[in-house]
Amino acid sequence: RKITIAIDGFSSTGKSTVAKQLAKELGYVYVDTGAMYRAVTLYALRKKFISENNFDVAGLIADLSLIKLKFIFNPEVGFGEMYLNGENVEKEIRQMQVSQYVSKIAAVPQVREMLVAQQQEMGREKGIVMDGRDIGTVVFPNAELKIFMTASARERAQRRFKELSERGEEVTYQQVLENVEERDLLDTTRKDSPLVKAEDAKEIDNSHLTLEGQFEKILELYDE
Ligand code: C5P
Repeated sequence: RKITIAIDGFSSTGKSTVAKQLAKELGYVYVDTGAMYRAVTLYALRKKFISENNFDVAGLIADLSLIKLKFIFNPEVGFGEMYLNGENVEKEIRQMQVSQYVSKIAAVPQVREMLVAQQQEMGREKGIVMDGRDIGTVVFPNAELKIFMTASARERAQRRFKELSERGEEVTYQQVLENVEERDLLDTTRKDSPLVKAEDAKEIDNSHLTLEGQFEKILELYDE
């Protein structure tokens, strides 16, 4: 039996780490929908549709059909990497600059519509683990297993700060915390598919759980 697994939750809850591991264990395909919103954001930044004091929504919308996204499996890392119009942007989309603008881009209904349609297409065959913000509510409301991950903002900022510092990005913990809190606010208050827990999703608060602990919980839910 193969099913659809939806993993939603706030940023930096470790969703993707758990989702990747789960997909590997089950032999499922893993899809990181955040990477898709990030790639569109990178495109918008490069074309200067968005910057500190400007957001040309109409310009972005007019260009949407020119944005081709693709995940290409990299056996060395064990998951699909994000390609934007043929270019591997997996590293670039994780940079702080993209994180700063992504929630604004993700609030544009036409962007969501395009990406949700692509995600539904990718999930036409069962045996998929998809992580994001609206997977259990909008993309796959009929997913057999829905997980909603939470952790305190401080805990999440701490983890993300560590990750970025290790990658050599010059950020302070305070900047990361502010970014996490701002994205939480934008993600939960946007008009179009705000981040909410699906009624039938199982909530996992991992503030005090190890990766193994979370993984065990999810496998238990999977076997139920
Ligand atoms: O998961 P990640 O933190 O990479 O996602 C980046 C941003 O993309 C989120 O903060 C959110 O604004 C947006 N997003 C979304 N819907 C999804 C996945 C991501 O709005 N399904």
